[in-house]
Amino acid sequence: MDTFRTQLPSFDLPKKLIRLGELAYNLWWTWQPEAARLFSQLDRDMWERLHHNPIRMLREIKRARLNEVLKDKDYMDSYKRVFTDFDAYMNQQDTWAHRTQPKLASHPIAYFSMEFGLHETLPIYSGGLGVLAGDHLKEASDLGLPLVGVGFMYAQGYFSQRISEDGWQEALNNPLKFDDLPVNLVVENGKPLSVSVEFPDRAVALQVWEVRVGRVPLYLLDSNVEGNSEFDRLLTARLYWSDLDRRIMQEVLLGIGGVRMLRAVGIDPAVWHMNEGHAAFLTLERARERVAKGETFEAAIQKTRGQNIFTTHTPVPAGNDEFPLWLIDKYLAAIWHQLGLTQEQFYDLARHDQPHGQTFSMGILALRFSEGRNAVSELHGRVSREMWHFLWKDRRVDDVPITYITNGVHTANWMARRLRLLLDLHFGAGWMERLDDPELWDKLDTLPPQALWEVHQHLKRKLNFYLRERVRDRWIVGGFHPVQVVSAGVLLNPYMLTIGFARRFATYKRASLILSDVERLLHIINRPNMPVQIVFAGKAHPADEPGKQLIQKIYRTVKRAETGGRLVFVEDYDMNLARYLVQGVDVWLNTPRRPMEASGTSGMKAGLNGVLNFSVLDGWWREAYNGKNGWSIGEDKQMDSQDTQDAMDAQDLYSKLENEIIPLYYDRDINNIPLGWVERMKESIKTVTPQFSTRRMVKEYVEKLYSKALE
Ligand SMILES: *Cc1c(COP(=O)(O)O)cnc(C)c1O
Repeated sequence: MDTFRTQLPSFDLPKKLIRLGELAYNLWWTWQPEAARLFSQLDRDMWERLHHNPIRMLREIKRARLNEVLKDKDYMDSYKRVFTDFDAYMNQQDTWAHRTQPKLASHPIAYFSMEFGLHETLPIYSGGLGVLAGDHLKEASDLGLPLVGVGFMYAQGYFSQRISEDGWQEALNNPLKFDDLPVNLVVENGKPLSVSVEFPDRAVALQVWEVRVGRVPLYLLDSNVEGNSEFDRLLTARLYWSDLDRRIMQEVLLGIGGVRMLRAVGIDPAVWHMNEGHAAFLTLERARERVAKGETFEAAIQKTRGQNIFTTHTPVPAGNDEFPLWLIDKYLAAIWHQLGLTQEQFYDLARHDQPHGQTFSMGILALRFSEGRNAVSELHGRVSREMWHFLWKDRRVDDVPITYITNGVHTANWMARRLRLLLDLHFGAGWMERLDDPELWDKLDTLPPQALWEVHQHLKRKLNFYLRERVRDRWIVGGFHPVQVVSAGVLLNPYMLTIGFARRFATYKRASLILSDVERLLHIINRPNMPVQIVFAGKAHPADEPGKQLIQKIYRTVKRAETGGRLVFVEDYDMNLARYLVQGVDVWLNTPRRPMEASGTSGMKAGLNGVLNFSVLDGWWREAYNGKNGWSIGEDKQMDSQDTQDAMDAQDLYSKLENEIIPLYYDRDINNIPLGWVERMKESIKTVTPQFSTRRMVKEYVEKLYSKALE
């Protein structure tokens, strides 16, 4: 999109390598393994030490090393190939979106999200919601869909996690050095572009950073600018402030500031997509623009609602942000005046009667003022229609206008390079163009089991090696007790059955379900000849005490000598660790309390790598599970009591592990290959990759929602 262009910082590089600088500032490299290797091959140790940060790499690498690289024919050939591909990609005219949606060409889709998970070096995400948003941008880029992202550039990013010897989560908030990150300040006439948002007693100024995600720009708002008070400068410092004052201000900045920023940058979106309700104030800002030109609020809303799309991710009312009315008074009084509304009329836009009093619900605001509304899986669609039925009282539940589009993951981003290479050989290069075509995947039947198993073994060894190096680094810097060294995974064995459990530690995820009978679990993991290892990882929101207690409970079990080092907790779950885990374990365990998962995506990342899902029939897995591509926990229904549900799910979990999963894994042929297991791995890759890809998902957004908004 030729909107606003900022000048990229340059690096002191030999002429023949000069374009590495450009590549470092376009996240396209993060889902192109060969492009990533142009950086890692410069110096593998440095690449790890700098946490996969190409900008720091190019700044710190010695000239002598670069001169060596110039003489390395393989490297220089690869450099040529990568930039030929990059140029072809950036200039491609004949894209899917261009062919099928010519109407979209002139005006982009604006995609608003509180978080974006694009790469571990840019920690502006906390979990699945953000990673989904990041994958959505990458896919939009691949499909040639004109789309721009809008979010926040958090000065401190999301916290890094340390676990104390007693299992307590400690949060480290480190200021990010923007100079080291692939972000660029948007400037206008030599000065930082600035937009302003008014609160009743003051205005807050925002500057804007641009991130390039292939062909898609992402604009990030930042209140850390001169002229703002110290307090206001911190408004965008962290994700999800837990005090409601700062939370509502953040959401005002995102919704209202985001619209103003796009105007200032010169972008006129045709579609406005809200990823969750945090950005719902954008609906009011768009109406305000028209009211300012003389329209009534009612008319303004009628004219703008058709272009708004709202994706809900929460299956419980409490999961949506709701604000007490006095906070609305405190921060939005100026806005209802500008909309020509009274205080009561403004409350009515999103008034929610709750047992504890009335609130202003961001979910209701978004639902009322968006014509396109979707949940993120089939079951979640059903739950959402029931949950919001009261907004459409005259309709039957089934006719509540909330559809569903099941989430997906960006294949190129999550599939292991080795597996991709194997599929290149088997399918022929270019198969990624057709990755959502189920017929392509039938060819997997003829893949020799040995080839797939070898790749999988390689990835398991890689995970083990990686965990060991992480422990070493932690031990060297001090403050790590020897028992923590064991708890972090040094005794793992890459040839044993390994289960991964990694996600945010929200209580509904029931991370401790597998600990409900610790003695039985210890027996399972220590069976002679058939041991089992479990790797846990995940952060709890710093204000979530029950979540932190859950981590502590797990950590205390992990530390017990009887586990033999086979239960492990790895600190600081992020996209990098996620990549190692979803590629390098055997089984991906997920035990949410149905129907709380909404969709879930980490299991998709695992499944497309041939890691077998073992999960509650909730969200996406309920749609994917076919009896042959993994295992279910519990049945396709809910019990009335949570305790009963927990007990039944735990029982099913243990017995399937004991009777089906472990025996199948250790059932080997004469070449030590578990043929039955590999059969399931193929079935997993075949069923998960096409259907649960963002390729399928973004196309569905275009066909079901975006193109409607254009009519
Ligand atoms: C994919 C991903 C998630 C989402 O995990 P779910 O278990 O599906 O909720 C969270 N965090 C990270 C770092 C991820 O990569």
